[in-house]
Amino acid sequence: MGSNNKVVLVTGAAQGIGLAIAERLANDGALVVMTDLLKDKLEQETFRLREEGKQVESFTVDVSSEIDIKLLISKIKETYGRLDILVNNAGISPKIKGVRTKIIDMPLEEWNKVLQVNLTGAFLCAREALPLMMINNWGRVVNISSQAARTFSRVAGTHYAASKSGLIALSRNIATEYGSPGVTSNCIAPGRIMSPMAKIVPKEKNEEFVKLSALGRLGTQEEVAAAVSFLCSDDAGYITGATLDVNGGTFMN
Ligand code: NAD
Repeated sequence: MGSNNKVVLVTGAAQGIGLAIAERLANDGALVVMTDLLKDKLEQETFRLREEGKQVESFTVDVSSEIDIKLLISKIKETYGRLDILVNNAGISPKIKGVRTKIIDMPLEEWNKVLQVNLTGAFLCAREALPLMMINNWGRVVNISSQAARTFSRVAGTHYAASKSGLIALSRNIATEYGSPGVTSNCIAPGRIMSPMAKIVPKEKNEEFVKLSALGRLGTQEEVAAAVSFLCSDDAGYITGATLDVNGGTFMN
């Protein structure tokens, strides 16, 4: 398993898909640095995983803050001397009463905030992490994009879709620029996954996805985490610049 003894950074790891990814990579044998804005939740989950014997560390950081990310990566460098895997998972999808805002109603502040967290956050983490990966000529970047970047979105706003499309472009550019030092960079595009984010929309919206799914159900956080685990493994060594749909067949391309 490629993640064994690797040092991993997972953003947005206090709950939902990010927590499942951190847990899965820790089960694979990695030392996982979990980060999130939600301090208390992050500390609780770190404690729980440590009690289960997992190698986990956590830091409260805002991915959209350049200072936070620079400090975080220098702490990782100082403590472990390496960083092998970066999973850009932190993301937001603002809605009003669970419903997406239309373009003509969208305040600029909200547009900027979503781009800042979902896309600039991933860029900052990658920019600071890549030099550490290059030390050992091995690295994995996995960006959690979305089905909203692969086709129109039924539930998320345009800012979210644009940020998740941007992640695919970022990912391909990392793949191209850092392939020869041995870094792969890929996206995962989840469809509807049962997580805290998915629970804030009206129930009928999620039921629409169940009907659209070839498998007749929503996805689980663990199924996204399993795809991340694969992309981080040595078995996925020749996969780069790709986007892997984990969507139960709700969109096929
Ligand atoms: P979630 O809201 O449960 O988790 C997101 C996590 O990111 C939270 O813990 C949150 O505190 C953290 N976060 C938000 N802003 C942050 C910031 N500025 N700095 C640090 N952490 C921050 O959502 P989820 O469903 O687990 O989503 C995880 C990722 O998967 C997101 O990028 C989301 O866009 C993507 N995704 C989710 C679905 C789905 O159906 N759930 C589908 C496609 C893509």
